[in-house]
Amino acid sequence: MGVSIPEIMAKKSTRKTRKPAAKTRTKTRKGKAAKLKPPRKPAAAGAEAGHGAPRPWTNAQIAEAFRRFQAANPDPKGELAHINPFTLLVAVVLSAQATDAGVNKATPALFAAADTPAKMVALGEDKVRDLIKTIGLYRTKAKNVVALSRILVAQHGGQVPRSREALEALPGVGRKTANVVLNIAFGEPTIAVDTHIFRVGNRTGLATGKTPFEVETKLQQVVPAQYKRHAHHWLILHGRYTCVARKPLCEKCIIADLCQWPGKSVL
Ligand code: SF4
Repeated sequence: MGVSIPEIMAKKSTRKTRKPAAKTRTKTRKGKAAKLKPPRKPAAAGAEAGHGAPRPWTNAQIAEAFRRFQAANPDPKGELAHINPFTLLVAVVLSAQATDAGVNKATPALFAAADTPAKMVALGEDKVRDLIKTIGLYRTKAKNVVALSRILVAQHGGQVPRSREALEALPGVGRKTANVVLNIAFGEPTIAVDTHIFRVGNRTGLATGKTPFEVETKLQQVVPAQYKRHAHHWLILHGRYTCVARKPLCEKCIIADLCQWPGKSVL
């Protein structure tokens, strides 16, 4: 899947706040031996520049946050256009390091030409590449889409398997993609941690972790069972439109009073 989400966040967050790399500092006074100071500790997971780490949420706060998410949007939907489990799988593969809007511009023509694995294999890598050339990393993605289609035809009867192991064995499919497909196509209570959920979890203190897998594991532990099916969509939409990366819109946030981020702009 190329560059990981933590790596992308690390690159973004260091643009404004980059400091010299921590190194052993020396201080010399006349007539005294140089004193060594230990390197500064890195900020804790979830701490954003100058704001410190958020406090953990109570179970009651978490339940209340998801109650509000559900009340505001009872049936949340993903924003990647698709017409069946196979086109969903392809759309998610194409969305790696690309926006949903960018993928949605290219996929109508692709899915009109091939909406099943067999048709995608018949279409061939050259034509797939041509149809998705507006999407980043399109050469690798075209190769993966045709290769995974070939495997679906050969090993899964032309169907998308309802199995994490089988999904993750497909070219271009990692844990996040498998989670999205299992959740949207098959209704499983998986939580795919993308860049938005990773940021929201760490910033607010809802689920902190150094990797998407750590955040996913914590969310699976703390999100009440009745909300797990849609937690993925609620958190993505919250991160995409309200708890945005550069300047979160705390004034219009429906969970502002519950949020544990010390830097939030409302109390
Ligand atoms: S209060 Fe601000 S930082 Fe906290 S969840 Fe809402 S938008 Fe994000």
